[in-house]
Amino acid sequence: MDISVVIPSYNEEESLRELVNWIEAVMDKNKFSYEVIFIDDGSTDTTWQVIEECTQKNASVKGIKFRRNYGKSAALFCGFDVAKGDVVITMDADLQDNPEEIPELYRMITEENYDLVSGWKKKRYDPLFSKNIPSKFFNWTARRISKIKLHDFNCGLKAYKNRVIKSIEVYGEMHRYIPVLAKWSGFNKIGEKVVQHQERKFGKTKYGFERFIRGPLDLLSVIFISKYGKRPLHLFGTLGTLTFILGFVMAAILGINKLLAIRHNVTAPLVTNSPYFYIGLTCMVLGTLLFLSGFLGELISRSGSNRNSYLIEKEI
Ligand code: UDP
Ligand code: MG
Repeated sequence: MDISVVIPSYNEEESLRELVNWIEAVMDKNKFSYEVIFIDDGSTDTTWQVIEECTQKNASVKGIKFRRNYGKSAALFCGFDVAKGDVVITMDADLQDNPEEIPELYRMITEENYDLVSGWKKKRYDPLFSKNIPSKFFNWTARRISKIKLHDFNCGLKAYKNRVIKSIEVYGEMHRYIPVLAKWSGFNKIGEKVVQHQERKFGKTKYGFERFIRGPLDLLSVIFISKYGKRPLHLFGTLGTLTFILGFVMAAILGINKLLAIRHNVTAPLVTNSPYFYIGLTCMVLGTLLFLSGFLGELISRSGSNRNSYLIEKEI
């Protein structure tokens, strides 16, 4: 099969029929063999009935229904799990992404050998202050931290080689940072394509202000997990040791001073009169705690590690 289109849908009843017809038209025109996988993310409207209706009309349409709303990342993850196409395309269900982009995305993956191609909504039809400006800032930060040159990390329209999506795990609200996850799994050829964007035709956006807090936290955890997830002691151990040494040096200097004073029979002030005594003490306690959390982290990550957690590209 050439293409799997994975579409997370949460209360999108009005859009789905039109979307399926549009995708069908594009696929038929280009003679692709394809499947469309809808994931109904616990919708409370008739989304699932509409999906059922579409599966009856078109044998290429498939549906997965969540019992409750788990979020876009979970929906993508389950879609990825069943996707069989050589190229996997993700898009939003709200008709904001244009299916006409699919052939070119497919070409970039198969001919130009990209692992991942992300859409870039260069001209974006979303509210300016609640979406466009914050998103510029998010993308700037993500670009700086991840060193991936993308303008639009969170674009719903993306294309992947099949093995890319099979080897990354999208959870929480990590769908914003799939390119970062892909890069850390060793897929370096990441491209970008300017895509058409439309205003939302039906329904309303599912993301409100909470994404201003969750977005940056998720970026932090992506970076942390991918860098230190398998070796937490390296981070916590280093921090812990440094903090401990700092505290120890402070306490030692105070102690040595005191001893020298006693030796020369001068009256030195009480060690506990110095602020450095308290700072040193705190540093030593903190250092030990940091070190211990590193150890615990190590134990936890060891207990979960096996051969499957390493990505093997080839074996001969
Ligand atoms: N979505 C989902 N589960 C959720 C929230 C959103 O599956 O909990 C889907 C939604 O149906 C849409 C896509 O994710 O297909 C993007 O959502 P939306 O259009 O609301 O986001 P925006 O384009 O406003 O950033
Ligand atoms: Mg949208």
